[in-house]
Amino acid sequence: MPAVNSYNLAGRIRRIKPSPSTVAADRANELRRQGKQIVSLVVGEPDFDTPAHIRKAAAHAMDHGATRYTSMRGTQELREAIAAKLKRENGLSYGVDEIIVTNGAKSAIYSALAATVDDGDEVIIPAPYWVSYPDMVLACDGTPVTVPCGENHGFKLSPEQLEAAITPKTRWLLVNSPSNPTGASYTAAEYRALADVLVKHPHVMVMTDDIYEHIRFDNKLTPHLLNAAPELRDRTLAINGVSKTYAMTGWRIGWVAGPRALIGALDTLLSQSAGTCCAVSQAAATAALNGDQSFIAESVAIYKQRRDAIVPLLNAIPGLSCQAPDGAFYLFVNCAGLIGRTTEDGKRLENDNDVVLYFLETAGVAMVAGAAYGLSPYFRLSIATSLETLREGLERMARATAKLKGGLAK
Ligand code: PMP
Repeated sequence: MPAVNSYNLAGRIRRIKPSPSTVAADRANELRRQGKQIVSLVVGEPDFDTPAHIRKAAAHAMDHGATRYTSMRGTQELREAIAAKLKRENGLSYGVDEIIVTNGAKSAIYSALAATVDDGDEVIIPAPYWVSYPDMVLACDGTPVTVPCGENHGFKLSPEQLEAAITPKTRWLLVNSPSNPTGASYTAAEYRALADVLVKHPHVMVMTDDIYEHIRFDNKLTPHLLNAAPELRDRTLAINGVSKTYAMTGWRIGWVAGPRALIGALDTLLSQSAGTCCAVSQAAATAALNGDQSFIAESVAIYKQRRDAIVPLLNAIPGLSCQAPDGAFYLFVNCAGLIGRTTEDGKRLENDNDVVLYFLETAGVAMVAGAAYGLSPYFRLSIATSLETLREGLERMARATAKLKGGLAK
């Protein structure tokens, strides 16, 4: 095969890398193929099937003509269902002409950046962040401005940090609450404090990635930035989808709600690139939004049970610590206590990449290093897997940690 360079790949491809979570999942699968017993705590998707009534609606739609292109912005039924959801759950009013359906939230965020970011425009990304944000910005010729938000501040951006990060070139602030990888969620008051900074800088727009809004463990509704700061509506894109809420990652339906002019720009871009979204999936997403919602509470109760069981086990492992997350289905584990310690074969663990590699090679537990999310020394562990698998993973990690020599133990 010719070397990659001989294909003259575009700068935007040379600037970015494959998603680290995909790389970690591929590596775990490769080790499995080699016959190793791997416990993978990598995946970022619900471990449940899509609820039956949603699958049935899809089958029905497929048998009744949902086999063609739909309107570019998504079917009228789905956009009405999204508008109704935004009103019902978030108290936000959007017309169907202020909504566009996309191939998952991932494509929504990428397309929104592609439609608005010019060479050198800056996008503020609080770290730790979802792995794809900075690379998406780079792929759109923009400059990611990552702002480290430490554990002592709940992994959240403060108004002072936001103020300091804004320049005349700032185009977007990207917020994700509850967050992947930490589960941290902004309160309405915290949003208001960020909004007070944003009102002073009218050139800065905001993208809210609301994909985990329903997965939270305190029985509270996730506030939306626009609830706290309605005056930002004209410069906010609210991004969401059915992947996490309804265990529908494979159906690829997300959406953007925002001002008409921006939705129009997305329509133009997507009509010339991705085209319409899968008609069957749109029917399924409509059924998900309009139908019985009990799956949400049921699945969140299971994630919560896992979180409550696993966080104490993790904190009992010397050298590791973890705060119980507010939401999403990840634990972001502090592994500072393992840095500087030495493995049985004499290798010093220098950083979180080393720690993750050590757990993979020695204990057969696959996770993703905090470095991939822009904050070290941590690793991300997904609880979207059975309690049995999680317990097995934790036992293996405890055994592997006990074998480390030197350094500090908790
Ligand atoms: N945003 C965040 C924070 C995510 O974790 C994910 C999925 N890993 C997405 C967006 C993308 O979701 P979708 O399946 O709708 O593309």
